[in-house]
Amino acid sequence: MRSYIFIVLLAALGFSFQVFAGNEAHENKGAAKQTPAAGSTGKIDANVGLEMIIKGNDEFVKNHAEDYYLNIKNAQHPFLTMVCCSDSRVHTNAFSFDPVDKVFAIRVVGNQFIVGEGSVDYGIHHLNTPILLMFGHVHCGAVKAAMSDYRKESTFIISELDHLHIPLLLDDHNEDFESRWLKNVERNVDYQVELALHAYRDEVQKGKLTIIGAVDDFINAYGKGVGRIVITNVNGTKDVEAIKKHSVYSKISKELKSLSVGRVSDK
Ligand SMILES: [Zn+2]
Repeated sequence: MRSYIFIVLLAALGFSFQVFAGNEAHENKGAAKQTPAAGSTGKIDANVGLEMIIKGNDEFVKNHAEDYYLNIKNAQHPFLTMVCCSDSRVHTNAFSFDPVDKVFAIRVVGNQFIVGEGSVDYGIHHLNTPILLMFGHVHCGAVKAAMSDYRKESTFIISELDHLHIPLLLDDHNEDFESRWLKNVERNVDYQVELALHAYRDEVQKGKLTIIGAVDDFINAYGKGVGRIVITNVNGTKDVEAIKKHSVYSKISKELKSLSVGRVSDK
């Protein structure tokens, strides 16, 4: 728990680790030209950063009347417990809807259940969210670091990365680095789903909980559109067609099924 809090604090302060930086250039094929994501224009100093936070919040306060808080003053009602990587390129605004009172978020590098398990357990057993989302992403720096020799990192970082070794055992090292990296991201998501299934099998079997594994694909690695969230695992099922037939997909159109389910790794 100590290291989890440490990472969350660092993430909140905008601290950057070289080891976690995904630095590969990527192209945006076929998409209309848009303004680059905020923060991609260069280093932001602390005073400018605080100005952004305070002015941004001032704008938020002015745009949200007291009515906005009416239903959340005394309790929270999320439908989603989310274990997401701390990576600054991955955020709930990719869902489009307002995450307030909807998403109970646990953010740790490499989207690891074991590092934030107390918080996850609160989401499942106290908030009773029907979905637990294990949310990884392409070009994950934590997965990349775990694929390399990281013994010179601090003991805090080493202990965090050590948990990623089990999913990486499936890496046969036969492909180019980029392909292995993507597959290892997916394998890590699979592993996090597997760990959660160990912890919450009863809830899943009783139909109270669905554990979903997904990858935020902001480089279009899956060919389904840049920025697409690709679901790769539902309750341990990795077969694409079986996932599409799962009851949790009952409200999704055929087109969106095809766009939202995918896999690059067969194990
Ligand atoms: Zn990551």
